[in-house]
Amino acid sequence: MAAENHTCACGCKSTEDTDATAGLQADLSTVEDVDLLVVGGGKAGKSLAMLRAKKGDRVVMVERDKVGGTCINVACIPTKTLVTSARVLETVRKSASYGASLPGGSDELSKAVVSLEALRARKEKIVGAMVGAHEKMFPASGMDFVKGTATFVAPKTVSIALNDGGTRVIRGAKVLINTGTTPAVPPIDGLKDVDFWTSEDLLRLTELPKDMVILGGGVIGVEMASMMSSFGVSITLVDGGEHILAREDADAADVIRESLEAQGVTVLNDFRAASVSSDNGTITVKADDGREVAGERLLVALGRTPVTKNLNLEAAGVELTDRGFVKVDDRLQTTAEGVYSAGDVAGSPQFTHVSWNDFRVLRDLFDGKDASTKDRLIPWTVFVTPELGRVGMSETEAREAGKNIRVAKVPTANVPRAKTLGETDGFFKIVVDADTDKILGATIIGSEAGEVITSVQMAMLGGLTWQQVRDAVIAHPTMSEGLNIVLDAMPAK
Ligand SMILES: Cc1cc2nc3c(=O)[nH]c(=O)nc-3n(C[C@H](O)[C@H](O)[C@H](O)COP(=O)(O)OP(=O)(O)OC[C@H]3O[C@@H](n4cnc5c(N)ncnc54)[C@H](O)[C@@H]3O)c2cc1C
Repeated sequence: MAAENHTCACGCKSTEDTDATAGLQADLSTVEDVDLLVVGGGKAGKSLAMLRAKKGDRVVMVERDKVGGTCINVACIPTKTLVTSARVLETVRKSASYGASLPGGSDELSKAVVSLEALRARKEKIVGAMVGAHEKMFPASGMDFVKGTATFVAPKTVSIALNDGGTRVIRGAKVLINTGTTPAVPPIDGLKDVDFWTSEDLLRLTELPKDMVILGGGVIGVEMASMMSSFGVSITLVDGGEHILAREDADAADVIRESLEAQGVTVLNDFRAASVSSDNGTITVKADDGREVAGERLLVALGRTPVTKNLNLEAAGVELTDRGFVKVDDRLQTTAEGVYSAGDVAGSPQFTHVSWNDFRVLRDLFDGKDASTKDRLIPWTVFVTPELGRVGMSETEAREAGKNIRVAKVPTANVPRAKTLGETDGFFKIVVDADTDKILGATIIGSEAGEVITSVQMAMLGGLTWQQVRDAVIAHPTMSEGLNIVLDAMPAK
């Protein structure tokens, strides 16, 4: 962990750069005017920059280090590349149960291990190809892609410390702030003094430790636990809440916990880390109730902090929320006229597909159409085995909202395709409005749940009743057929 820490608005320490804006002055006589200035090349920013440049606007996009943004460099793409390797390993290990063995019937496949070099090479090839494609697409769109760090020096105006040396000052008629988030590092006693890992450190794949403690049972912590366990690392996953995956119903979190435990992961709940220390290559985390866990490595997966500290947003008249995100309305307009913000830094739910949707909102607004982020339906997937797909309200959320609901739930084992795959853990659960028969949400746990959930999302977007989905002809045997099966099991009113 090389990053400097500082205290952010939520009281936690962050891996974001320390404030480098003090005393910043720019020579405004050298200002270059453009139609659109994009600060940070995340999913929303790069999409908008390319589109507007192709439409003939003068566009500058500034990116300090990750060409293509967080997703392709250090988040979704590398993690899912590794999750695929982890799943292949697990399948190979149980290949005998599928009737596959080496010549002579040897069960050596059950002992398959990971090769760190091959793992890293595969990941780097996939990420490298995507970064390379962006290096070509950006200039091809007609935008001016500037590698450097942008800091506001006046309204709509940034000074860019160029990576190759020198400075440029750019003013945009319109400006988009899309600087993302970095791993949060809460103020846990002793944490900043130990050599902990964030997801970015882990993804460098410099080593596979013997054992590792993961702090945080959110999506990132859970995905990393499952994946690293498959790679042979002994994992202890600790979470401060009653159950891991706090946004999910307890029954869903239980299925994922059980699958992690079956893999050999130790999962501890209600574990509120109070202090961290390091001794002789072992990092120990103590909870406020006296429990202790230890490992050769510690992964901190306790949320993400918005990247705003280095931006000098006061100079731009851009205000932050009390949680430190850029304050935007449902048209992604900040408190400064003509300045927009999108993606993680704007407080949008932290998914690449949400940042991409922010782009579509801005695309339409910039084209003079109406668009907003209000009431959008956001699905997500937790890439563990079995996979979890979620859209709309959970059962808990629907009950807390006082909805009059009906809940259909069946084990994934009831789905014929799950049997043929040999992946029967999990359940299909759909929550419907008892008054309107419209679907309020779904949680699906099983193979390809992230794909199946899209069908539920489309039904919700199309305003279908649950009976219409129940009676739709779905191909057999597919995992999506589980939608027929679960809705057939809707309990009577
Ligand atoms: C380990 C991990 C796994 C994830 N997996 C998934 C997943 O499977 N699916 C999913 O949907 N989401 C996933 N996410 C979340 C997803 O990566 C983020 O929500 C998404 O990348 C946010 O994109 P963004 O558009 O907000 O900006 P980002 O992609 O974060 O881009 C912001 C860019 O701004 C640049 N920048 C910052 N400050 C400056 C400055 N001053 N000057 C110039 N440039 C600057 C940064 O270098 C960065 O490239 C994952 C996240 C992590 C950490």
